[in-house]
Amino acid sequence: MPIRLSGADYRRAHEACHNAASLWNFFLASIQEYWKENKTDPTEKEMRHFLYEQRPDLRDGLHAHTVQLILSDLMDAISTYRSNRDSGDNNARAPHREKNYRPLEFSAGFGWRVTPDRQHIALSFGKGHKRITLPLPEIADPKTGEILPPERWGSMQLCWNHNARKWSLHVSVPTPKPPQGNPNIIAAIDEGIINPMTVAIETENSYDVLVINGRHARAIKHYRNTRIATLQEKLSRCVKGSKRWHKLNAKRKRIEAMTDSALHNANHQTTRKVADFIQAHDAGRIVAGDVRDIEKNTRKDEAKRIKNTKNQRRRLSQWSRGKQGTLLEHKTGSTVGHINEAWSSKTCPACQTRNHPNGRGYHCHNCGFTCNRDAVGAINILMRAQHGAYTPIDMDKPIRVKYLRATPIFQPKTVPSME
Ligand SMILES: [Zn+2]
Repeated sequence: MPIRLSGADYRRAHEACHNAASLWNFFLASIQEYWKENKTDPTEKEMRHFLYEQRPDLRDGLHAHTVQLILSDLMDAISTYRSNRDSGDNNARAPHREKNYRPLEFSAGFGWRVTPDRQHIALSFGKGHKRITLPLPEIADPKTGEILPPERWGSMQLCWNHNARKWSLHVSVPTPKPPQGNPNIIAAIDEGIINPMTVAIETENSYDVLVINGRHARAIKHYRNTRIATLQEKLSRCVKGSKRWHKLNAKRKRIEAMTDSALHNANHQTTRKVADFIQAHDAGRIVAGDVRDIEKNTRKDEAKRIKNTKNQRRRLSQWSRGKQGTLLEHKTGSTVGHINEAWSSKTCPACQTRNHPNGRGYHCHNCGFTCNRDAVGAINILMRAQHGAYTPIDMDKPIRVKYLRATPIFQPKTVPSME
């Protein structure tokens, strides 16, 4: 939730975020030193000792748990890096970048607590420092809409959005585990550029398909790209660091912050609708066509790169694939498996002939089968997940396609002009 801080608190919070970054940088330097000498990772306890012995001043103005959570974040980042390396990702790098800014985390009951009047929450900045108090927010379960009392809230993060130039409070709340569904019922997902998600599920007497229309997200991306391009062009014509440059740059950041949150919302709404559809069909296994390599190959393969138009490449690199998968996993409680989706949008589900669909419709020149193009992709992925290979569908079962728009059509908010 967005929050407003008074002048003094605003400055104090900024200072604390800088201190948190210095602390992170200290831990990072200590661990790098340790690696050189010992060829192994230090324990968290050893790391705390380095801090107490060498830079006790860095803890000043931060709650002990805030300090501990910064250390835990760094240790987590290192163990993620190690497990990525172990699973064969040679591009994984250990944390190495120094930070200028870190959000502050406050643990429940210690870092933050409800004030005795039950009207405010107080964020602690450690012994001898004034707390920051904020009006008690109202928090509802994101799934059920039920109001959650503060006793059930977990830790909080105080974050500064640099682009929007606003403070916000991120509060973690427990959510009930979503129902898992029947593992024998498969939901097959085809992710795409025009329609961000299409899902196909076989029922006893039909193939049910849901197509989520991505016009909203496309409008945001188009708006963002054209506005940023114009500003970039203007920026290139002024002296870097000049008054006009700063004004234009701030404007660019405002547009980025606004479109970021609009895209985030579009991803949430898309996956919400898909998750509801999956749960209504009691599907317990989710399989998505694997498109994760498309972008990489496009960059590498020169012939393909030239073939893809400039716009196509831009759209590919702004595809929200990975994010959508993670959101869907959160909402359904199932993991999303991946299978190869080569030819899934071209193969005819009825007779297995390969066609080259034009536009949004699919028409088979061999058997006359017609259907929505994205539905064909999702149905083929479903068939491959069920049978191990593309297999003709049961022609006695009708294909029922439902179309939903992710969000209402995007109306660009006008950003005040400075000309
Ligand atoms: Zn056919």
